Amino acid sequence: MTEQNEENDMQEVSRLRFDCPHCGSYMKVRTSKTHLPEYRELYLHCTNEFKCGYRCKAALSISETLAPSYRPNLAVNIKLSPWLKQKVGLENQGQIRLIDEPKKEAKR
Ligand SMILES: [Zn+2]
Repeated sequence: MTEQNEENDMQEVSRLRFDCPHCGSYMKVRTSKTHLPEYRELYLHCTNEFKCGYRCKAALSISETLAPSYRPNLAVNIKLSPWLKQKVGLENQGQIRLIDEPKKEAKR
């Protein structure tokens, strides 16, 4: 896979889309509230407003850490994925190094 393809795939994944469970139309996020950094409440409205009109509240929460942050917030405690737990175990045994310094861009 080329670098360009990877970039395009990431853009596709970043578009979070909800379809109305009743009519299948696209739902818009009207407002959202944040109480915790790892949790967000979303208020969704069906875009088929006059023929359907469904509205609902949804919750989005970060459930697992897949890769640790280079700038961790110590107030945030999100459980590690089983894969990452295994890697942390290997790092603690000195077998691997999990976090390297962020790569600096090559100077031209
Ligand atoms: Zn609908």
